[in-house]
Amino acid sequence: MIYLDNAASTQIHEEVLNSMLPYLKEQYGNPSSIHRYGRLAHKAIEKARKQIASLINANPSEIFITSGGTESNNTVLKGIKLKNNSQIITSSIEHDAILEPCKKLSENGVDVDYLPVDQFGSVTPLELKNHLSENTCLVSIMYANNEVGTIQRISEIAKICNDEKIPFHTDAVQAVGKVPIDVKELGIDFLSISSHKLYGPKGIGALYIKNGLEINPVILGGGQESGLRSGTENVANIVGFGKACEIAKNNLAENTTHVKKLRDLLVEKVLSEIPEVTLNGDPQLRLPNNAHFTFLGVNGEDLIIKLDEYGIAASTGSACSVNTQRASHVLQAMGFSHEQITGSLRLTMGIFNNEHEIDQTVTSLKKIVEELRSFSPFKEKYSFVSKV
Ligand code: PLP
Repeated sequence: MIYLDNAASTQIHEEVLNSMLPYLKEQYGNPSSIHRYGRLAHKAIEKARKQIASLINANPSEIFITSGGTESNNTVLKGIKLKNNSQIITSSIEHDAILEPCKKLSENGVDVDYLPVDQFGSVTPLELKNHLSENTCLVSIMYANNEVGTIQRISEIAKICNDEKIPFHTDAVQAVGKVPIDVKELGIDFLSISSHKLYGPKGIGALYIKNGLEINPVILGGGQESGLRSGTENVANIVGFGKACEIAKNNLAENTTHVKKLRDLLVEKVLSEIPEVTLNGDPQLRLPNNAHFTFLGVNGEDLIIKLDEYGIAASTGSACSVNTQRASHVLQAMGFSHEQITGSLRLTMGIFNNEHEIDQTVTSLKKIVEELRSFSPFKEKYSFVSKV
């Protein structure tokens, strides 16, 4: 199998797995216990907290463990202090882990504004400025989009919020570990991270909360995570997540170069060897591992099924959403036609991929696209003359 769906989830790193095993076997103490078992578990969590903090240049006291990106996003949106007539500003291309809690807030009387994006999937900072009001209590704009890979102008967006003293949250699930992120330099108040996107275990993540800012706890109980999130900690997963962050930090430049090289090779070959294909998202401001295409006259889901038969794991882009039948709200917001949305395919590289896999993928893709197009109802509309 060739795994090109690293935006959906990643293979656990061997060193990460090894770091977790003692906490699934002999080090099974409860971190709240006073005895040695408890103290060792507690120490392991605090070490992981430092490793996580270090990846985004936060203080360890600003890192709160959660079950992943979804929970981190929900915690901010549900825990932010609201006032009368509160307004929350987000974008129209956020992940469902932002859009669904926003929908709930809206049903409960909060005014939620969804900023539009341009054809590349970028929010215009000026648009944000124009939407701010004295009732804005939170701005939440994702760092990088999970479908098309577009990276937002986060430092400009954060500056606008900082100047107006409005808390700024970013869902950085797709960006952490792939691009350098310094929460202090960027002026970020809240940031969501997920471990399984950076070669760590699933079901674990973190929320960065800048020192001095407050979030009402959503889960109440024994007061773990400084009272923000009660419940006995998942020690092994936290340790693995910490290790994954340490590895990501130490190898950031090297890993970025590697995945970018593979992605650029893939894009270059696909665009030059297959007719009627476009690369979607911002050509420059994009995640180094993301390639998102539209193959006109092809159904993306048929493409994925065929690619799977050829041993290649790919996606249309929204695998984290259970309802995969829904047309991509991201591509809709970017102004794509139904036909363009239907023909979309996301291929996301990871550190374990190699050039040979890219070559094989392009060869298979060429064959599959040609075959699918021969059955296409749009066949007459385009000149699908193969360039090879
Ligand atoms: N936010 C973004 C941008 C994502 O891509 C995802 C998952 O794909 C999530 C949030 C949800 O993260 P998790 O799977 O850790 O709950």
